[in-house]
Parts: sequence; C-alpha cells; structure tokens
Amino acid sequence: MADLPFERIAPTQSVDLIFLCDHASNALPEPYGTLGLDEGAFAAHIAFDIGAAAVTRTLASAYGATAILARWSRLLIDLNRGADDPTLVMRLSDGRIIPGNRDADESEIVRRRADYFDPYHKTVAAEIDAMLVEGRTPVIVSMHSFTPVWKSSRRPWEVGVLWDRDGRLARPLMDAFKRAGFVTGDNEPYSGELENDCMYVHGTMRGLPHVLIEMRQDLIGTDEDARAFAERLKPLLDEALNVMGPPVVKFTRPLMPPKGDTPMDEKMRTELEAATFRRLVAHLRERTDVQNIDLMISGGFCRNCLGDWYREAAADKGIAIDKDAARELVYGMPQAEWKARYQTEVSPEKQAAFAAAQKTHR
Ligand SMILES: [Zn+2]
Repeated sequence: MADLPFERIAPTQSVDLIFLCDHASNALPEPYGTLGLDEGAFAAHIAFDIGAAAVTRTLASAYGATAILARWSRLLIDLNRGADDPTLVMRLSDGRIIPGNRDADESEIVRRRADYFDPYHKTVAAEIDAMLVEGRTPVIVSMHSFTPVWKSSRRPWEVGVLWDRDGRLARPLMDAFKRAGFVTGDNEPYSGELENDCMYVHGTMRGLPHVLIEMRQDLIGTDEDARAFAERLKPLLDEALNVMGPPVVKFTRPLMPPKGDTPMDEKMRTELEAATFRRLVAHLRERTDVQNIDLMISGGFCRNCLGDWYREAAADKGIAIDKDAARELVYGMPQAEWKARYQTEVSPEKQAAFAAAQKTHR
C-alpha cells in the first residue's frame, strides 16, 4: 500500500536498535499539490532534511536494523513535534508563507494528524512494543540534518547531538565524535529538550536509551557522500553503544500523565509518583508478614532493592547516601532490627525457589 505515511525497513538481524528519520522526504501526497510553493522549495531544508534518509538507510542496512522513515514532507505535518504544537503544520518557514498551509484550520490539522502523523507514531510505538514483548530493550536513534548557514551566519558544527535528560548514549557519542575530529554540537544547532517531540515521546517517556543526531547537509548532500558519512558514523555509534552497555529502561522525567485531559505539570507528576512510593513503603512497613525472600521469588526485588534504588537515585543527583541509611528509610528501622523482629526461618523449599528465580529474573 503506497499510501502509508511512512516507509518501514524491516530488520535482517536481531539487533536492539530502531532508526527513525522524521524529515526523510520532500514529497507531498497528490491532493496537496505543491502547497502553492515553487519547485525550488522542495530542494531545500524547509521541505526535508537533505541527506538524512540516505544516511539512515545505510546505517539500517549496516546494522540489519529496523528503520522508519517519513514518506511525506515536513511541510505537510512535522513528525518531530508534539501533537498539540502550534508549529505542527507550519504556516511560515524561513520567512516565507506556505500558501497551502496558511489557511489550514483546526479540522484540516486534525485530518492531517489522523492521516499522516498518528500512523507514523503508532508504527514507531508498535516497533518498540514488539521488541519489549520479546524481552529486548530498543535503543532509538533519530537522524536529522541541518543547513550550513542560518540567518546569514555559518554554523560551525559538523554534527550535533541532541538530547534531553538521558545522556546514556548522547554523552559517549559526543566523546566519540570529538575524538574522531568532528566539530560537535552539544544540543546544537537545536536543543533536544523540546517536550513532546519525537524523542521525548518514544525515548524519554518510555525510558529507552536514545539520541538524535544532526548532520550538516553539505557533508551528506549526495548519496555517495551520505553513504560515506554513514560508514564513518557507524564505528562511532558502535563505540558509544559499547560504552553505554546493555540497554535498560530508565526514566529521567516523570512518567506520562494518565490518559485524558487532566492538565498536569511535571512537578505534579513527580509529586504523585512520590506519593505512590510513600504508599508502597507504608504498605511494606505494615505488611511485616511479607518476607523479602517471597518478594524476590515472585517479583525479583525486595525491600533492600528499594533502598538501594533510592541510594542510586540520590547518587545520580550527586548526593551520597550510606547503603544502610537508604535501606533504613524503607524498613523504618535499621535493617538488622527489622530482621530480628520479623524475618522468619527460610525453608529449604524456599531456598530452592529463590535460587531458581534468580536464574530467570533479569
Ligand atoms: Zn530534521
């Protein structure tokens, strides 16, 4: 079906990587014509990210990884924006009016969202879900390109690494770029901290390692250059993935707000998450009959893990907390005291169940 608003490159290897290219194409679906723009606009950045698709294809093929590329131009709808972003359908770009978008009303935007935006993002989400179901944690790599000159000043960077709060992959990738001699932008030429953009939705809010790579267009302007660039890029990405280690789910922003229209800011979400944690701790303090070993057998974690996670979360913020002190916070008393009061004898059957569970829990 040629009408899908994306192109999916199927994986040929079992690799925990998904490449995205939101601005891959300068094409428009038939009914939209040229949106009233002249031909020249379609060779320029306002229509697409020059070279990004070719780099994405080369990388996807080199890794044998899945890739999802936009089929239509960002002039139709910008896939790298939040669904409610006022620039989702751009009326102006680079100072010029886009006639076919100028009068796009709410119903037109709703239609474009349903026909072109939602299917793309649903497909990305479904790819992620499918890997998670298999017990794999995908790393999301988004490929973009930028113009060498912006508002008559030259941009010094050759590549940019855009990221929000999850630097697991971004930091080692920047290091690798720099060591390889690239002039590297850290959240340049754009910031990766835009709420609800593509990486925010599929990376940050799902706790998946991710990075957005910006490449300067003049380095990837022809297919040949793009392929050569991808070949330089691959070992650097390999290196960064290696430094990062096996991908795991880790949240760096408060979780998604519940579905519905309840407005909720990040502070409120954090407070609700904290309240839930407090209630969990209160519950565990009350339910002294629940033994740590039972939690470990059925859930792969126990009170000690919660204390350790608290200590690790603090360490991430540069706060050192003693291991025993962190565990005491969960127990409500020193661990040794809780043990003396409430811990029961462990039967050989439980020991065996615990040993078996250790093998299956990750
Ligand atoms: Zn882009």
